[in-house]
Amino acid sequence: MSIDFYRHDLGTEAAQAVADVISTPFLTTGKVARGVEEQLRGYFDVPHALLVNSWTNGAAATLLALGVEPGDEIVVPAMTFIASANVGEVLGAVTVMTDVDPDTLLMTPEAVAAAITPRTKVVIPVHLYGQMVDVAAMRQAIDTHPDGGPHIRILEDAAHCFEGTRNGERPGRHGDAAIFSFYATKNVTCGEGGAVITRDAGLAAKLTETRLHGMSAIAVDRFAGGKYNHWDMERLGTKANLPDLLAALLPPQIETVDSKLPLRRAIADRYREAFADGPLRLPAVDPLCVSAEHLITIGVPADNRDRAIAALNETGVPVTVNYRALPDIAYYRRRYPQAADQCPHAVAWGRQTISLPLYTGLSASDQTFIIEAVKKLLYPLG
Ligand SMILES: *Cc1c(COP(=O)(O)O)cnc(C)c1O
Repeated sequence: MSIDFYRHDLGTEAAQAVADVISTPFLTTGKVARGVEEQLRGYFDVPHALLVNSWTNGAAATLLALGVEPGDEIVVPAMTFIASANVGEVLGAVTVMTDVDPDTLLMTPEAVAAAITPRTKVVIPVHLYGQMVDVAAMRQAIDTHPDGGPHIRILEDAAHCFEGTRNGERPGRHGDAAIFSFYATKNVTCGEGGAVITRDAGLAAKLTETRLHGMSAIAVDRFAGGKYNHWDMERLGTKANLPDLLAALLPPQIETVDSKLPLRRAIADRYREAFADGPLRLPAVDPLCVSAEHLITIGVPADNRDRAIAALNETGVPVTVNYRALPDIAYYRRRYPQAADQCPHAVAWGRQTISLPLYTGLSASDQTFIIEAVKKLLYPLG
């Protein structure tokens, strides 16, 4: 028995799309990427969508566009992937970690309000595992805080939530921007990639520059009209544009992502139902959310977590951990030694959690094997 932890479902259609790009003289950001951006604007019903070559570089370009400077504070939940915080650290910002709700494991408006200071510049709520944070309530909590207001920008980390909704609304509705990842294991993928969506025209205009070195014209435009056109650089940027070679993989996936969600949900629901009466801890499902079901996670007592992982691996069940909390990561522990005490729920979950295989190609028999293995090996560990 050999089960994959994850398998993409790209096939011959994707291979043909890449071949089509290779058959043209133009490989980097051009017509194909523009077409995908148009598709994203339609899907999310937003006026601006910019493809980027990763969540991380898209977030860096966005923070540069917002003028984040060394010493500015960026508020992030302690339960997230390191990238959510690293991007601010790289720019010299100060990471302010907040604890998460002990049931949903999501960042809360209350925790964000408690973290605001006169130096707060950006808040990065994370739609963890596919379930959306209440960004509307977060916006209100920020705007009614004595040191708050619209100058504090909300960037939604939507790496786990392309197709999910909250109150019927998609990501990017209440934040200043929402940033997606098309990394190899994400629900929509082109290997490495991402997108930033925003309703803020000023931010979008700056982002167009900061995602490409700060240049005022992308390559196709520099040669528009069959002649060379000068460009300039007003603001410092990074290299975050997505090439057509990779963008070509996205259109069919964006078209079908909603129709695949019931399949992801059926697999996730089957796990949740199988474990509902057992001793494992499961993240609470918020009835206001339609989760993108990016990851399925279970919790075992922290003392037994590594034994549980070893036992599952030995029997042929591949697992991973999403995530050890930021205060338990060496760099953050060293730099912010007080964070662990301030974020007990995130730290506790990070020491308990295990992720199980969840992808549309997971067969029913493989899932049965996984569920039986979890019950047999992990239930005795409590
Ligand atoms: C994957 C992920 C990222 C980083 O995405 P990249 O595209 O690899 O930069 C950021 N935040 C979360 C929550 C993620 O899971």
